[in-house]
Amino acid sequence: MANYSESNNYIDKTMKYFNLRRYFSIFSLVVIILLTIILSGVVYWNQKKVLIEYSISSAMMFAQQINVSINKKFIEFHLSSDNNLQINKDALLLLQLDTVAESFLKEYGDIKKIKIFNRERKIIYSSDVYDIGFINASKHLKMALTGKPATELTRYDEEITEDTTDTGNKFSLDILEVYVPIYKNLNNPVQEEIIGAFEIYKDVSLVYHLTKKEFYKVPLLLFFSMGLLYLFLQIVIKKASNLINKQNEKIELYNLELTEAQQRIKKAINDVIENRNFHVRLQADNLLKCWEVKNCKHVGCPSYKSENLRCWQVSGTFCGNKVQGYFANKYGDCRKCEVYQNAFKDRISMIGESFNNMMVLLENEREELQKLNDKLNVLIDTDPLTETGNRRSFQKRMESIHLLSLRYNHPYSIIICDVDYFKSYNDTYGHQKGDYALVSIANIMKTSVRRTDEIFRWGGEEFIIILPEQNLLASLKVAENLRAAVESLGIPHLGSSSRILTISVGVACNIADNVKYISWENVVKQADDELYNAKAAGRNCVYPDVNMKNISDEKT
Ligand code: GH3
Ligand code: MG
Ligand code: MG
Repeated sequence: MANYSESNNYIDKTMKYFNLRRYFSIFSLVVIILLTIILSGVVYWNQKKVLIEYSISSAMMFAQQINVSINKKFIEFHLSSDNNLQINKDALLLLQLDTVAESFLKEYGDIKKIKIFNRERKIIYSSDVYDIGFINASKHLKMALTGKPATELTRYDEEITEDTTDTGNKFSLDILEVYVPIYKNLNNPVQEEIIGAFEIYKDVSLVYHLTKKEFYKVPLLLFFSMGLLYLFLQIVIKKASNLINKQNEKIELYNLELTEAQQRIKKAINDVIENRNFHVRLQADNLLKCWEVKNCKHVGCPSYKSENLRCWQVSGTFCGNKVQGYFANKYGDCRKCEVYQNAFKDRISMIGESFNNMMVLLENEREELQKLNDKLNVLIDTDPLTETGNRRSFQKRMESIHLLSLRYNHPYSIIICDVDYFKSYNDTYGHQKGDYALVSIANIMKTSVRRTDEIFRWGGEEFIIILPEQNLLASLKVAENLRAAVESLGIPHLGSSSRILTISVGVACNIADNVKYISWENVVKQADDELYNAKAAGRNCVYPDVNMKNISDEKT
């Protein structure tokens, strides 16, 4: 037989719990660091952009002013004719330029140097005179000569400059080289009319230094505010986590209960399957306690205010080794009852209750089925008219009786009765009356034999009786009683010589006259022969005739 517990693992999926805080802590720290880096980067990039734009616009302003302050014609001449200002010693222009440049350099302390390039990128003027005539190959200059101002930041680490606002702070020199185009017509700049470019060396060290100093505060501020947010969320998460933990504990308990219940159910079901034990019950502590007398406080519960009534008597469960009624809907309010609820607070009790009720129902069903089966068996073996055994049950019974008699060498007897002139009775009184007569005869015969003797309808109007442990003499007495009993009924029958219904009887014993019959059929055949003799002798008599034959009360 298959083992139930092996083939069915029906509660294998238990709930898993979740650690919210652990996941949140790791995740949120990563997010905060990433956010700080990204936001700081965005702020830094933006600040640098603003700074460069500011430097370009101020350099352009400077270039414009220089442009208006000097004699453009001379500049045009020098720029277009590839002439070197200093070399050509155009004293007037040079003087003009130097004066303007000097005044600008003085006015704008952060402008360190000014250069002028012609279209061939040759330096035709430089405020520090040093590199006149050089060709500048930088891409920034090339860009400026196409009309797009460009910048290049160069750091001079060896040159240390000092913070004028914040005394004592020293930092390296940052020069922003700004290239701006020089147009022939300044009021109407057209790309084709670019005649050269300015290069202005702007000292941005201090601005950079201050910006950087400010900039460090950004990530700090960000990190700080994120930290605060993190702490706040931690508090929220802690609360949520506590709730989840409580739920987890419940789940753990639930899983434990389920596992325990599962084992008990498996055991119980195996017991039912293997031992066919329908009385198996799931025991649960709470269910066992239920027999305590408790009067429920719930109005509507049948045990409410009742002195003797136990709530469980009506709620129905298995308790104290017997079923305390059923789980009856008519007492529906019992579910609200305090005693009921207490008994069912754990899962095993609940499952146990259901299981027990199921087993009770199953047992009831089984009993019902058994009763029906018994009834069916009786019907199969019974003659419906006379309610005596039928021929089938007679044969079954004979087989076992004969076997027993062979083993223990015990006697048994057979009596066959046949109603006399019954065909004529039917013809005279009708078939229905004939049936009534058969029932009356069967009934009187039932009362005329011992309880151990069994009557069967052998066929039509013939009955056959088994008399276990009876020898021929004793059976002949029973046969005579039967004959007399039927006669005493006095059922009128005009077609009979005696004017009433009578029977003829033949008797045989399996051990008689030192003859032992090997099969029960032979015994029946002998009884039938004797019946024939009784018929031949005039009917309403028993054969063998005890007076004619010397039948002794032989003991076997
Ligand atoms: P005998 O004295 O020689 O036995 O005469 P008999 O008429 O009884 O003999 P027979 O066996 O010829 O007739 C039996 C009759 O029993 C025939 C049939 O009509 C009747 N019979 C058989 N079974 C039933 C039954 O269930 N109900 C009724 N009413 N009659 C039956
Ligand atoms: Mg007959
Ligand atoms: Mg007959």
